[in-house]
Amino acid sequence: MQIKGIGVCGGMAIAPIHYVESPCPADINEHTDREPAQLKARLDELTAALQQEFLSRAALLRQREQTQDAEMLEMQAVMLCDVTFQNGVCRYLDQGYSLAASITRSSNDQQQGILETEDPYLMERVADVADMASRLVYACWEIPYPDLSQLDHPVVVAAEDLQPSMLVSAPEEFIQGLVLEHGSRTSHIAILAAGRELPTLVGCEDLSALHASFRAGKPELVCLDADQGTLSFAMTDQELQQARQKLEAWQQERQALFVYRDQICATADGERVYLYGNIMEAAAAERVREYGGDGVGLFRTEFLYMNRSTLPSEEEQFAHYRAAVRKMGGKDVTIRTMDIGADKQTPALDLGREENPFLGFRAIRVCLAKPDILRTQLRAILRASAFGPVKILFPMISRMSELDQALAILEDCKAQLRQEGKSFDESIRIGIMVEIPSVAILASQFIQKVDFFSIGSNDLTQYTLAVDRMNEKIDYLYDGLDPAVLTLIRASVRAADQAGGGKTCGLCGELGSDPKAVPILLGLGLRHLSVNPSALLQTKRLISQLHRSDLERAVAQLNL
Ligand code: PEP
Ligand code: MG
Repeated sequence: MQIKGIGVCGGMAIAPIHYVESPCPADINEHTDREPAQLKARLDELTAALQQEFLSRAALLRQREQTQDAEMLEMQAVMLCDVTFQNGVCRYLDQGYSLAASITRSSNDQQQGILETEDPYLMERVADVADMASRLVYACWEIPYPDLSQLDHPVVVAAEDLQPSMLVSAPEEFIQGLVLEHGSRTSHIAILAAGRELPTLVGCEDLSALHASFRAGKPELVCLDADQGTLSFAMTDQELQQARQKLEAWQQERQALFVYRDQICATADGERVYLYGNIMEAAAAERVREYGGDGVGLFRTEFLYMNRSTLPSEEEQFAHYRAAVRKMGGKDVTIRTMDIGADKQTPALDLGREENPFLGFRAIRVCLAKPDILRTQLRAILRASAFGPVKILFPMISRMSELDQALAILEDCKAQLRQEGKSFDESIRIGIMVEIPSVAILASQFIQKVDFFSIGSNDLTQYTLAVDRMNEKIDYLYDGLDPAVLTLIRASVRAADQAGGGKTCGLCGELGSDPKAVPILLGLGLRHLSVNPSALLQTKRLISQLHRSDLERAVAQLNL
């Protein structure tokens, strides 16, 4: 049997499921007849014990050099003893609320206070405050907190949802993978898991069968394949054996791929191909480097805007972009202005309901309607360009006037920064995504105004073929190798080549790491591909095995 989900980071794991129950919330209206003084004394005891627990776990993590994780626990220890939080609990106790209700109420007040500061750094701490309070509530109920810290054997962790702190508290060597019903690629837990290269599935179908078997004390042995986005369970002996063989082959192949890390990316007959990585957050630039990428070909910055109720400030964005630039140590970082809208929404921007969100208010359309958002972002990107090679990429351009407006705003931002004496790269290169057919059709006109094209094959395919990229019912029609899509790709490549002056056309959609597509894309003249970092090594290997004759043959077969 199989469950499908969204693979956050590739990889495979076979291990028994360890299902983590969601912590159950306290009833905030629960009252008690017990003396407040008695409950306050109990609060002191519980606080001291939990603080001790946080600190000893942090010390253990420090020994293992997991400094960041240790800092999070140390911060929770501080938040636990915070006077405002503790006084709040006492105030509710005086009003007759139970200890669990008082803790929860005071923590809710604190979370609300943090949200009102609109300080992006503090706001990220809301989940940690909630987690700290539920641990205290469990201690007060004298029930063990659903925790991973006691794990002593390898497991695939499954849950409806999981607090980041819970993953942090788990012994890393025993967590083989993660499967969550909720969550998106952008949830903190997914980012944390990807940072640890844990095979992970989020947004899974119903996990209740796995939950039931775990509860019954018979945890299912599962095979998690994050590349395929599947979780297999109730496997026959034969299926299990096949899964084990696949895992072994995957591990060997992964190891063997590292020989490509420091090799220049080129075809077998010496044609240089530039292979970059796609990232969603600065930290992931580390992986691009680790896997020998030529740079960051696509920084999807919209992820900095998601899961939050305020927009990121210029300083916050600048810090992220500069971090990515520094990590890449002199290699290009292509930063795309935010592509919020359609399937990527944020509470920070209420875009309203739309009949056809993929054809609606999205990306550059939002930015031009709310130019302050674009200005803030462009200033941050420009400032980061003082620290290393940066390129700016505008998404979802569909007509020339949009590009003209975006370029005018960019010039304004440059002028402002000059006036303020803030440095940036005066010759910063500017590009647009080719993901709407109108741009590919008029490629020779668009290329006159920019330095490069980056083909967004994910969207170019959906808009060329009128096939919703999110709709599994018509998935069979979604084909990036359709001759119509390839004709548009070829037109874009030709336009850039013919324009001369070092103008380039690359591709940064998922097609760039599809082994069937790579020979065709190279055959069409593409020499810049940007792929998920986990696909860098295998794509480099594939390219190194191709000859010019393979590429010519691949394209000749298309009859374009
Ligand atoms: C694309 O459309 O191919 C692309 C790279 O952009 P996104 O997937 O973020 O829409
Ligand atoms: Mg796109």
